[in-house]
Amino acid sequence: MDKNLGLKIGLEIHQQLDTSKLFCRCPSILREDEPDVIVKRKMYAVAGETGVTDIAALHEYEKGKEFIYQGYKDTTCEIEFDESPPMEIDQEALEIALQISLLLNAKPVEVSQVMRKTVIDGSNTSGFQRTLIIAKNGFVELENKKKISIPAICLEEDAARAIKRTEKTTIFRLDRLGIPLVEIVTGPEIFLPEEAKEVALKIGEILRACKVKRGIGTIRQDVNLSISGGARTEIKGVQEPNLIPKTIENEIQRQHELVKQKKKVEETVRRAEPDGSTVFLRPLPGAARMYPETDVPLVYISKELIKKLQANLPKLKSEIKLELMSKYKLSNEFASIIIDENKTEQFQALAKEFSKASPLLIYKILILYPKEISSHEKIPIEHINEKMTGEIIKNLFRALTKDEISESSIKDLMTDVSKGISLEKAIPKHKTSAISSNEIENEIDKILKEKPNLSIGAYMGLAMQKFKGKVEGKEIIEILKRKIR
Ligand SMILES: [Zn+2]
Repeated sequence: MDKNLGLKIGLEIHQQLDTSKLFCRCPSILREDEPDVIVKRKMYAVAGETGVTDIAALHEYEKGKEFIYQGYKDTTCEIEFDESPPMEIDQEALEIALQISLLLNAKPVEVSQVMRKTVIDGSNTSGFQRTLIIAKNGFVELENKKKISIPAICLEEDAARAIKRTEKTTIFRLDRLGIPLVEIVTGPEIFLPEEAKEVALKIGEILRACKVKRGIGTIRQDVNLSISGGARTEIKGVQEPNLIPKTIENEIQRQHELVKQKKKVEETVRRAEPDGSTVFLRPLPGAARMYPETDVPLVYISKELIKKLQANLPKLKSEIKLELMSKYKLSNEFASIIIDENKTEQFQALAKEFSKASPLLIYKILILYPKEISSHEKIPIEHINEKMTGEIIKNLFRALTKDEISESSIKDLMTDVSKGISLEKAIPKHKTSAISSNEIENEIDKILKEKPNLSIGAYMGLAMQKFKGKVEGKEIIEILKRKIR
């Protein structure tokens, strides 16, 4: 990448939290069934406090659009419809946003005023989005020790989602409106496309250590960039960190082409496409967009709360992985799989309770064997995991500790349990023969020599007496048949 480009990149990340909504206590769930309540409205541009109607707002207003809102009796309320004033902010959402802030090395503010940010595209029924600053002056550190600043972390409400757009009308569903979002904005200190990806991955790791929503649409990554000679651009909604470098490089290319053709490069907001290209959305908005939300009281963040959160901060995946690797001598790959499959706690509990069992065996029982049984026996993995309850797994280890079963029979036992046989019934089938087959043969030879000419049944009785149930009858019969013949 040419250093003379004067490329400056900043990231803006929005992550949904897994809590109730921010300004009412409705659940944060998206629905696909038919809505119960439908409201029609028209929106108008309102001048911000400075008296300037901003250019982005006008852009939408000029279209003279009508908006239709869909809600549900049981999972949305009057607050989403803007027919009731907002409640105080959700305490759990506040605490999660603070956890994230602390993990990003930021200083929580002592008191915060909820602000209104003008929104004219209809995605907020009130005509604004509520947002409040939670913490300031954070940073993330990259592999090469470079620090990327995070000037501010905000908690805000998500917008309604557009279900259908036509020339004159947009239909919005209110299920998403009000879901708490943490907004993380980095300083414009990223100079390379690959560095932007690393920052996004690092922030993503911190977010996933906390109680956030998972899956498509729950995290949105925007890239802001400027190039000397080009123009500032905001690229909305890059699907995943791996796409960030390509999207940035394509935007640089696009601006270069315009400059070459002696065309003006406008400051724009663009939407990221899955192939790394972008499409025009609207002109870049100005700054006249915030004013205080007087319906919600000031939010105080006490030192005691910060102390409590600081003492119980969740661990990052990379930290847990290092711990698994050093404490249990697991490979990088196995440690990653344990974390990805959400088995860390169970793994550590088993390793503690059954300290004689090898960590590798615990890994096999929790992860490897269920997969092998699933593909071998054509049983769905969820079905196997359902049958192999925590208690059954513990009983397996108990039987192993008491030498009732051997390591080599565990997979067979698990297969039986997966097929619906109880562990109690399965264990006797796979009992350890503590005596080697050579020893069994020798003992039988001795019996045959001592008492010649008895019936096979009589020998059987003598042998069973001798081995006291440590050898399966089937095995003895086979040896006897062979010897007597
Ligand atoms: Zn509600």
